[in-house]
Formats: sequence, C-alpha cells, structure tokens
Amino acid sequence: MTTHFINNQRVPGSSGDTIPVLDPSDGQVFAHLARGNAEDIRKAVAAARKAADGGAWSQLAPVERGRLLHKLSDAILAHHDELWRLEMRDCGKPVKQAKLDATAVARYFEYYAGACDKLHGDTIPYTPGFAVMTFYEPHGVTGHIIPWNYPMQIFGRSVGGALAAGNACVVKPAEDACLSLLRIAELAAECGFPDGALNIVTGYGHEAGQALADAEGIDHISFTGSARVGTIIAQSAAKRHVPVTLELGGKSPQIVFADANLDEAIPVIINAIIQNAGQTCSAGSRLLIEASAYERVLAAVGQRIKALKVGPALTDCDVGPLIRANQLQRVNEFLASVRPERSEGSDARNASIVAQGSIVPEAPATGFYAKPTLIADVAADASLAQDEVFGPVLAAMSFKDEADAIRLANSTAYGLVAGVWTENGGRAMRMARAVKGGQVFINNYGAGGGVELPFGGVKSSGYGREKGFEALYGFSVMKTVVIKHG
Ligand code: NAD
Repeated sequence: MTTHFINNQRVPGSSGDTIPVLDPSDGQVFAHLARGNAEDIRKAVAAARKAADGGAWSQLAPVERGRLLHKLSDAILAHHDELWRLEMRDCGKPVKQAKLDATAVARYFEYYAGACDKLHGDTIPYTPGFAVMTFYEPHGVTGHIIPWNYPMQIFGRSVGGALAAGNACVVKPAEDACLSLLRIAELAAECGFPDGALNIVTGYGHEAGQALADAEGIDHISFTGSARVGTIIAQSAAKRHVPVTLELGGKSPQIVFADANLDEAIPVIINAIIQNAGQTCSAGSRLLIEASAYERVLAAVGQRIKALKVGPALTDCDVGPLIRANQLQRVNEFLASVRPERSEGSDARNASIVAQGSIVPEAPATGFYAKPTLIADVAADASLAQDEVFGPVLAAMSFKDEADAIRLANSTAYGLVAGVWTENGGRAMRMARAVKGGQVFINNYGAGGGVELPFGGVKSSGYGREKGFEALYGFSVMKTVVIKHG
C-alpha cells in the first residue's frame, strides 16, 4: 500500500482505510492508496505552514530555490523510465504518451527553476518625498487539486510554478492515478527540498479534496478538474476569502476553412481528439467545417479514424483505454444517442457515425476500451456539441461563413482552446481575436500548448493562468511599500 508524503516522509493514513487502484488496460487492481481524510490534510498543512512561515524553505534565496527545482528536474529525467511506466499503468497511457508526460514534468521544473530569481517588483513614481516599491511575495501555503488525466504534467505546471514563487505546497492528486507523483515527492526529498515544502495527501475528492479546499492555513488553491467540482472549490474558498485558480473543462473547436492545407491539418485534428483517448481538457472535440469543404474533410478525417487501433497501454497502439468503467459507459451513452450509420440526405437533426477505429483482439475484455469515432451532422445545441465526452469522439458540423464559424465556435459554455485552419492571414487573425478562449492555434494545435505558454480558460473553462511566466503572478501576491523620506 502507498502512503501520504508529508514533511519529507512516507506517512500512513490516519484512518488505515485504502482505495484500490485499477490498471485501465485490464481493469485489475494493482495497488492501494491511503484514503486520506481531514486529519491527514491537517498534518500536511501544518508541515507546509512551518516550511512557509520562517522554516528552511522560506529562508532560501530565490537562486537556491531554483537550484533545487533544477536538481528535481534532473532527478526526474534520471528516473524517466520508472516514472513513465508508473504513469502508463496508472492511467492506461500508451507508451509514447507516458514517456512524453515524464519528459514534460521534468521540463516544467526546469522552466520554473530558471524563473525563481526573475520574479521582481517595480518602483512607482509618486509624490515628491516618497519612494514606492512593489514586491511579489508568495501566498504562503498553496493547495493543489489534480485530476487523473495528466497527473505528472499538471503537477509539474501547478506545483512547479507555486514552488518557484516561494510557496510551500499541499497536493491532493486524483484517486484514480497518482503513483508517479508520490515518487516525484520522494525524489524531491532526496534532492534536498526542506521538510514541508512539498506534501501529498492521497484520497477521494469529497473527503481529502474537500478537506483541503476547506482547510484553515491554505492561502491559495489551484484546482484542475471538472466545472462541477470547480464550483464547489470556488464556494469553499470564497468562505475564507482565499484566491483560486480554476483550470476546468472544454469543448474546443477545430475550425477548418475550405482553403485550409488539409495535408497538414488532418493529422493534427486527429491527434487532438485521440491524444490520451480524448481525455484531455483541451481535446479538439468539435470539428467545424466550411460547408463547401464539408464532405471532403469528413471523408479524409473518417478515412484516418477508421485506421486507428485501440489497445492496452503497453502495446502502444494509437489509442489506449479510458480511465475506468463509468467513463467508458459515459462514452457509450453518447454513441448510443446517434445513428449508427450515415445515409443520403442526412442533416443536422440526424447526427450519425461516419467512421470508427477498432479495438485490437488482444485487448482484455475487462479493460476500458472505446473506439475513436467521427460523428457528422451534429446540431450545435446537441449534448454532443455542448458537453465534454472525455473520450475519443469527434463531433462535426458545417458553417456557412466566417461569422457563422465564430458564432458556432463560441456557442458552448466553455472557452478553453481553439484551432483555426486557413491560408488567409487576415481571416486567421480575425478568428484568433473573435474566438473566446485562453489559447488559439492558427494552422497548428497544441492540446494545452508548451510549458512556456500561459494556459487557462474563460467562461466555464475557468479563470487564472498556469504555465509560462504568467503563472508566477498568480502564485504570488503583490505588496506595495511606501516610504516617506522627505
Ligand atoms: P473532477 O473534477 O472529478 O476531479 C478533479 C480532482 O478534484 C480530483 O483530484 C478529485 O478527487 C477532486 N475532487 C472531486 N470532488 C472534490 C470536492 N468536492 N472537493 C475537492 N476536490 C474534489 O475531474 P476529473 O474527472 O478528475 O478530471 C476531468 C476534468 O478535468 C475534465 O472536465 C477536464 O476537462 C478537466 N481538466 C482540465 C484541465 C485544464 O487545465 N483546464 C486539465 C485536465 C483536466
């Protein structure tokens, strides 16, 4: 059984209760987590408080903090093989994706290592006889609630930024997948992180997660997860007037104009919906196609979808399993709501399946496999066009012109990422400015983008930004000092 990680030590859960961890590739239990509760959270927050309020962590010069983060980045790369294997089994990620995620978490710590001593305030011209300066100071103790879809990447971007800004962290990873993070916390201790700088409490959201959101002694909360739980977190934080960053879901459009370079666009569009089996906040899950190119694009995308193979993570197929049985059931319910085949004269009232990939015969029947699916003629107000499926399901619809494309792109409650495919530079720029979201990709798509690029949403996709240097402002608080010198 795994334990919490508090004050640089493995700490058993106070209740002794555990949570089984399933391998999504075969549905079998392969580990148990400590089922954390409010008492475990209290211990972790106390450890972090000590580190932040005069403890060794708070006494480090920024350059020394940066050196520790750099050491951790190197340690992660030195344990790359172990970490990607853990993530692969825990999340059901195909080998290629799991390796990429292990490299990305190292890159986050590398990026933020270099940023520690570059976050500085300003001087402000004021009344004669006064000097005014600003400081970016850490909040103190930051709480981080992490989902299961990219445990390492989201840990890296959220905790990396918070540590760089000088905070001590308490992390509540998802109950479905968090083994890699416990290992990274151990590596941090081996690298010399002072006691209490980085603490992890595992457990269910409604228990350990809720306790973290409600905990006295947490000064800032970074939540990455569903819009539903984001609302709960924001309400908890509001009671204590604690600032929150909400990184929530999306229904991101891929907008294809008739002049797009399809040879470049189509592989990217496919990857944006199958990456991590579609369980990506910024999955390009809506395909908006200019009417004159609609059938041509559907045919080209459909042809590639049909060739995709779904299988166990270790076989490194195009698509791995979904995280758990009820996620598969959710995807299947969406598929059951549309017609299984497209017929002549189909229209927007008759959404139908155009193409599906296949599950490899060696995939265990007890695993959670969903076929990548392209659905055409989806009405803009249908659940398939409005709600996150969180599976490899691409909903296509057509638009008449630029104005119609903007209307459709902005027609969901979400606003996270968008892709625009056109060879017309003026139109690309107009679309980039008109689409509501935190990131817009023109003739490319990053599904979250690089480590350096600020990321976050508008509307129900959340608020605040992580990634890039911008995140450091969110993980700090500005203090203004006014000196009267006469
Ligand atoms: P979720 O909201 O169910 O859970 C996320 C985390 O919150 C987990 O650690 C969970 O244990 C915890 N949690 C659940 N209930 C809680 C409560 N009452 N109090 C405190 N914590 C609680 O989301 P999920 O199913 O794990 O993840 C998928 C969702 O996350 C999708 O909507 C996806 O789009 C979103 N997501 C967003 C981003 C982003 O950067 N915007 C990145 C990844 C995932």
